[in-house]
Amino acid sequence: MDGMMDESVAPQAWDVVVLGAGAAGLMCALQAAGRGRRVLILDHANKAGKKILMSGGGHCNFTNLYTEPANFLSQNPHFCKSALARYTQWDFIALVNKHGVKYHEKKLGQLFCDNKSVDILNLLLKECETAGARLMLNTRIEQIERIDLPGAQDADVAEAASPASATLTAPAAAASADASRAEPIAGSATTRIALDRADDATVSAAQSDGAAGEPQADERGKGGKKSGSRKGRAKDEASAAARPACEYLLQTSAGPVRTRSLVIATGGLSIPTMGATGFGYQVARQFGHEVLPTRAGLVPFTITDQLKAMCTELSGTSVDCLVSCNGKQFRENILFTHRGLSGPAILQISSYWLPGQTVHINLLPDLDLPQWLAQQRNDRPNAELKTLLGELFTKKMATLIADEWFVSKPMKQLTHAELETIAARLSDWQVVPAGTEGYRTAEVTLGGVDTREVSSKTMESMKSPGLYFIGEVLDVSGHLGGFNFQWAWASAYAAAQAV
Ligand SMILES: Cc1cc2nc3c(=O)[nH]c(=O)nc-3n(C[C@H](O)[C@H](O)[C@H](O)COP(=O)(O)OP(=O)(O)OC[C@H]3O[C@@H](n4cnc5c(N)ncnc54)[C@H](O)[C@@H]3O)c2cc1C
Repeated sequence: MDGMMDESVAPQAWDVVVLGAGAAGLMCALQAAGRGRRVLILDHANKAGKKILMSGGGHCNFTNLYTEPANFLSQNPHFCKSALARYTQWDFIALVNKHGVKYHEKKLGQLFCDNKSVDILNLLLKECETAGARLMLNTRIEQIERIDLPGAQDADVAEAASPASATLTAPAAAASADASRAEPIAGSATTRIALDRADDATVSAAQSDGAAGEPQADERGKGGKKSGSRKGRAKDEASAAARPACEYLLQTSAGPVRTRSLVIATGGLSIPTMGATGFGYQVARQFGHEVLPTRAGLVPFTITDQLKAMCTELSGTSVDCLVSCNGKQFRENILFTHRGLSGPAILQISSYWLPGQTVHINLLPDLDLPQWLAQQRNDRPNAELKTLLGELFTKKMATLIADEWFVSKPMKQLTHAELETIAARLSDWQVVPAGTEGYRTAEVTLGGVDTREVSSKTMESMKSPGLYFIGEVLDVSGHLGGFNFQWAWASAYAAAQAV
């Protein structure tokens, strides 16, 4: 799949440049190229889709059968609805089926690959290749500039588009940009740089030799969805024509690149060792967008108080619990770790938890504990508390709880008040985490580009026409269970219909 970029690619201006070859970027590229757009994907990493490869414990939980807007966190909770409705879990499943990728439902509607995550990455790359999208890896984006073309100033949106030509400058940007390649466009607000070569030997991965042809309005999206009705397309084209004319000029380590539509799909901050950067937020700010505060989500809790010893002692033990915080609750396993608490229920609630807050854990959600304890006292008066708890938890956990939280003695010696205390503690274990493990292990970044300044239909910026944000860079984060990929697919599809 990966190979050297051929010289013929360089001088072209692109209809669409997608920054980030992750889940969202690849989906957007294959869909847009399937509509006949000339698409270039740029990524600074040496490999596409690294997070796809590591996802779902190596088996990529690629979607969820029960995806609904309620599975997403955002300061603008309605934002995700339109995109999720237009590219559903069934659409992605159809794509997976088309490629013969085998999968299974693990639990709670979560679909995982039978084989490896690479099956999902391969199908995305194959679709990109078939549709003619080009992929360049190992490519640094050094500067982005918007160029308002003649007539742009007359357009209504031009006023909203602030600043008129924002520039994002990364370290070494100026050094790499070759000013001698710049040639003016008559009447444009600024200058255009001719795309005359790709000169970086580290550039790799031309997906396909044939350059994509002119956009074909009637072409069917290669990813399995039709591009829409004739009337719908005519409307799309009319609205595209109504947009103020502008282009984006990128200085990259592979040379300058020009495009009509620029899609930011650079993801969030989680797992920096996998290539995550705050680049997308930087671009958003440069073009006048608000970026909502970010924090790690779907992340284990760290414990530093007296509970730490218990977590360490029970490290590796998992228990089916009902975990709640801030009015949200999740019924799944918790896992004791050397650092604190993890497991699906903890990861889920971590997205709702704020520092200093108490997490409530019902360790026995299926039992009416006061009644159960009274019954045991009646039926087995000589049995010790730890023996009974050993029938509900592992022996080690039962002993620890009985000895450290209560006094383990025969049931007949426990008073009603003591039984009430035991029931209350086991059904509402209150934990105040010291913090989270942070972006180092977080599955997702909460917060991000404020969706109130982005079209929910097209993912286009309301600040800078032709600029799009998709995937995790936006302030939309899913629950654990395949929802984050479904958001990547759906938001990417929405943008791909508009670029
Ligand atoms: C360990 C782990 C497991 C996960 N498992 C699942 C799962 O099973 N199911 C699920 O739904 N979700 C899962 N997620 C979440 C999911 O991976 C993300 O939500 C999803 O990948 C986001 O897609 P994206 O395309 O927006 O961003 P990403 O997939 O992160 O892609 C962003 C791309 O942009 C590139 N990039 C970043 N900065 C720059 C830059 N400056 N210049 C050029 N390129 C840049 C990166 O190299 C990367 O290729 C998991 C996450 C992690 C960390």
